Amino acid sequence: MTTRVYNFNPGPAALPLSAIEKARDELLSFRGTGMSIMEVSHRSAEFGALLKETDAGLRGLLAIPDDYAILYLGGGASLQFSMAPINLLGPGQTADYVETGEWSSKAIKEARKVGRVNVAASTKEEKFRRIPRPEELKLTPGAAYVHITSNNTIFGTQWQRFPDAGSVPLVADMSSDILSRPFDVKPFGLIYAGAQKNLGPAGVTVVIVRRDLVGKAPENTPTMLNYKTHLDGNSLFNTPPCFAIYMIKLVLDWVQEQGGLAAVAARNEKKARLLYDAIDNSNGFYRGTCDKDSRSRMNVTFVLGREELSEAFAKESSAASLKGLKGHRSVGGFRASIYNAVGMDAVEALVAMMEKFRKRNS
Ligand SMILES: *Cc1c(COP(=O)(O)O)cnc(C)c1O
Repeated sequence: MTTRVYNFNPGPAALPLSAIEKARDELLSFRGTGMSIMEVSHRSAEFGALLKETDAGLRGLLAIPDDYAILYLGGGASLQFSMAPINLLGPGQTADYVETGEWSSKAIKEARKVGRVNVAASTKEEKFRRIPRPEELKLTPGAAYVHITSNNTIFGTQWQRFPDAGSVPLVADMSSDILSRPFDVKPFGLIYAGAQKNLGPAGVTVVIVRRDLVGKAPENTPTMLNYKTHLDGNSLFNTPPCFAIYMIKLVLDWVQEQGGLAAVAARNEKKARLLYDAIDNSNGFYRGTCDKDSRSRMNVTFVLGREELSEAFAKESSAASLKGLKGHRSVGGFRASIYNAVGMDAVEALVAMMEKFRKRNS
């Protein structure tokens, strides 16, 4: 038996053990085909069924209404930074963007290449330590859409309640918290998420788009960048990332077994509270880097009060099989990514190590 570690990687990230084991068990023969999922045709009946089941799984868990399509695309969430404005930002229109971290800054940069962008609010001056308050948003009346990043993976903040944009559709990059909590899909025109944090492996991006918003891209839009291509082709215009989609299906099964989104959200809440409590009750030995009312339940960022202990903390945590805790290279410090598949046991092990380390060094 190979030893598994406590995996706090920010992405690619931990997957449910049962999903990986299932994939291993049927690796040589996917559903009796005598071929692995990597070897079957994407046009086969078996893969068609898998795609349908994946769709139904996502639809059920997220309560996605029928007037939304689900697309499985390549190119990562990063490609959606371009595809969203190409498809939804018409000539003469303005798109509002809320800048809450590095990923939203990147989304803004790409959107500006396509059309007019209004940064409705930014917390960049405050090092992205919080989500803007509703009254700080300077929204454009009649905007094409309002873009937000639901969870800021690098800085460790998360929208606790999504902004109210009235009849203007919200567009959200939910790469790092999709499927972590229930939410109402209806205010959104578009939701996209790279799979490698909470949904599955890298290689596929889930795009949930309101059907009536598709088909407005300019005539000269490259075929592959047009949502209509993938909507009409049922994500089979070209070869989709078959293996990654298959893994999503297994992860969805696991979420279902956990009791669905509400149960998963409750567990996520508990995990985050345990970790934030350990930070807040450490007398400044550990310090959270974000405002409390903006804290993420997915990425818990912190620094050591005495910076000079950071290297020892990094070494000792790694020696205790607690992996992936280094903060993003742009911000430093530490970050525990506690996505759905990171169990309470992992968080408990981390908190125990933190306590031990603090007592020894206080
Ligand atoms: C990881 C991440 C991305 C980048 O995703 P890719 O699939 O690597 O392009 C974008 N946005 C957020 C919020 C992320 O966490």
